[in-house]
Amino acid sequence: MSAAAEIAVIGGGIGGLATAAFLHRAGLRSTVYEQARELKEVGAGLMAAPNLTRLLRELDALPANAVPLDIGWEFRRWQDGTVLSSEDLRESCRTLYGERTYTLHRADLLAALAAAVPAGTVRLGKRCVSVEVGSRVTLRFEDGSLAEADVVIGADGVHSTVRAALGEPAAPTYSGTCAFRALVPASSAPSLALRPAQTLWIGPGHHLVHYPLSGGRWVNLVAVVPAVGHATESWSATATVEEFLSEFEGWDERLRDLIRASGTPGRWALLDRAPLKRWSHGPVTLLGDAAHPMLPFFGQGAAQSVEDAAVLARCLASASSFTGPEEALRRYEELRRPRTTRLQEASHGRGHVNHLPDGPEQESRDLAFAAGDSLRDNGWIYGYDASRV
Ligand code: FAD
Repeated sequence: MSAAAEIAVIGGGIGGLATAAFLHRAGLRSTVYEQARELKEVGAGLMAAPNLTRLLRELDALPANAVPLDIGWEFRRWQDGTVLSSEDLRESCRTLYGERTYTLHRADLLAALAAAVPAGTVRLGKRCVSVEVGSRVTLRFEDGSLAEADVVIGADGVHSTVRAALGEPAAPTYSGTCAFRALVPASSAPSLALRPAQTLWIGPGHHLVHYPLSGGRWVNLVAVVPAVGHATESWSATATVEEFLSEFEGWDERLRDLIRASGTPGRWALLDRAPLKRWSHGPVTLLGDAAHPMLPFFGQGAAQSVEDAAVLARCLASASSFTGPEEALRRYEELRRPRTTRLQEASHGRGHVNHLPDGPEQESRDLAFAAGDSLRDNGWIYGYDASRV
């Protein structure tokens, strides 16, 4: 594709900025239109498995204060913290996949990605309200301004305007669960939560994950619980510590101590969506949560948006003037959609397994966890190198 082509990216989240960064590395220019007046992310963490880490390293965008999970993953029983399974990630991750697993603060990741795009790429306060395809694509913004582009990439998240403009509604179904999240200062957290481990506590109808963040300054806490009537899919909705604690009645006191330190936790309804049948229409395509929103049970949503970005940039860079960008977008979708569909479906099924009530099914699940090796078993997720597909 010609370096003079105008590529517009709608949305300056993790996926949109990663797209601009990979396009830049491929010698293509883009403009990112972000609705917010500043680049910002919610105060929360992300787990970055090898499939994400290797791409961030390629962009020189792995935040310096990312915490390597030296101890690894640990599954614990809700009542007393019995370790059901553990996985040492220090050596095995590198041996199997050539990379490590880290935890990142979302804001640090966004800043690192922003530093990987040329100055002037991001235009803030630009909320896209319509996308019209003619000889070029015309974008209309809420402030009344217009822009034209040859290719448009909708990286505008789960409530995507671009997806709606393409006539691809992703009708949500309520998953019946919601997530609490909080950052706890390390000084207020029990020592168990300060270890470089991602600890997953599982129990009837609930689970909770915690890990240290930002060089160990914080502990990130995400819990998934049953929900009735909390249908707001937004991190700006909050709850109280008492509400959070009441969900974990009778759980291990170390976990309850961590929840007691959680300040004003956020609460986010988890909505589920079936995979889309297509992402691209002519010169317009979708990326990240706009294309494939998924429940967070594999911690892969952001990773998939960065993988999309790497593959899309390569497809566009290798598009010839003869076949044009539409063929490149088709190729991108062909390469990416089977994988993200599989992850959407796997994430959909995972909640049930994590939330089994105590009984024979739970006992055989725990035995399977103890005997299993999720790092190897999920090699299709962690071993994928988006720079080489
Ligand atoms: P977003 O981050 O939603 O960014 C979209 C951007 O577009 C925003 O900046 C928004 O302001 C902008 N925008 C929206 N509409 C418009 C418009 N009309 N015009 C202009 N701009 C617009 N993923 C992981 O990889 N690891 C994890 O550990 C992990 N944990 C998670 C835990 C929870 C509880 C949840 C809910 C998700 C988790 N995820 C995780 C998933 C991850 O957060 C998302 O998949 C990821 O943020 C998607 O990035 P995105 O850039 O596609 O969308």
